[in-house]
Amino acid sequence: MKKIYYIFALLIIFTSACKKEGSIKGEQPQAPGKTITYHLKNGGQVTVAINNKGEYVVGGDVILSKDQIAYLEYNKIGNGKETTPRSTFTAEYQKLWPGGIIYYVINDATHSSDILSAINAWESSTPIRFVQRTNQANYINFAGLPENGAGDSKLGMIGGEQAIRLAASADESTVIHEIGHAVGLMHEQTRADRDQYINIDFSNINADWTDQYKTYDVLGRSGFQIGTFDFNSIMLYRSNVAEARVGSNTSPQMTRKDGTTWGDSDHLSQGDIDGVNYLYRPIYVKLVSVYNEDGSYYNSSITNEDARFEYFISLEFFSDANFNTPIDLVNPVRIRYINSFGSLQGSGADIGELTAPVGSHSVYLGTALTEYSSEYGNYRYYSSSSFALTSGIGYRY
Ligand SMILES: [Zn+2]
Repeated sequence: MKKIYYIFALLIIFTSACKKEGSIKGEQPQAPGKTITYHLKNGGQVTVAINNKGEYVVGGDVILSKDQIAYLEYNKIGNGKETTPRSTFTAEYQKLWPGGIIYYVINDATHSSDILSAINAWESSTPIRFVQRTNQANYINFAGLPENGAGDSKLGMIGGEQAIRLAASADESTVIHEIGHAVGLMHEQTRADRDQYINIDFSNINADWTDQYKTYDVLGRSGFQIGTFDFNSIMLYRSNVAEARVGSNTSPQMTRKDGTTWGDSDHLSQGDIDGVNYLYRPIYVKLVSVYNEDGSYYNSSITNEDARFEYFISLEFFSDANFNTPIDLVNPVRIRYINSFGSLQGSGADIGELTAPVGSHSVYLGTALTEYSSEYGNYRYYSSSSFALTSGIGYRY
């Protein structure tokens, strides 16, 4: 059966490829001399070579059309689909602890053993490391009592001292949860997409607790989520929180779409760990510039100079800082970049964002160019546009 589908897929590709129309020149540039193997959902695979014009070539001489490439992209395994429960967290890069190292002091004798075992739980399953503070500026102080619930914490590294406050009822799992916030994780029920997975009964949530059930975007926070909703997350409230109730209403605040409920988690789930790895063991993005000869020219005479130099800019994804091992993304990555531009009227720069979907090995960013026309060395026209990466979560560059 697999084989039949494979042949069918190849037939679609090759019969339409033979029309030799709509070559994708300039549409999806890649570094020349590379090959990409598409593993398709129907079990087949197609290896494509990228020639020095940035065209996708199969079988040595068949140039794929834009539609044919779209077919491969759409049908490859994992593309755009997130099926594994994962995590939600801050999207603010500056809130991450540099190197994943958290400095701390304990001024809470009641909970010191819970704190140390929670730290051990974090260190044994994530890249986060805890170091007792000596004189570092940014650190966690385990001290004080929360206003509501069993504990509270700040989201991410806020700069300076930040407290994790634990109530008498707090246990090791409370501390793991509150450290999760300090690391950058948000409550799973605040995912922007949570309504696809759960129902929330706001009529049974009192005023002190309402914000804990709003999505991060409704709260105006900068967040992001990967994978699907994780019902095992230690960052997820249990279905029925007694302190959040309105009056004597004992019904749950949250249920699954099928009406069922869940209890507390007492440990970091795989989805929590994946979220922390996303923040602290990110992928690497390489900005690739390919000169587009067809879109460029240079003409000069004794008096005049007219030129246009055009480059296709794309981003490629790697697992390592040296860009040796290309990868297909297993999580979406929202990449931030700076687009600088200049003209005779002045120059400027914009910050842009591009979300690369699951399954992609590269994304097209834009066209960089320098274009000018001059006479006796004086510019009559000048225009430039260029791209550079800037810091964000989920990647380094
Ligand atoms: Zn919390």
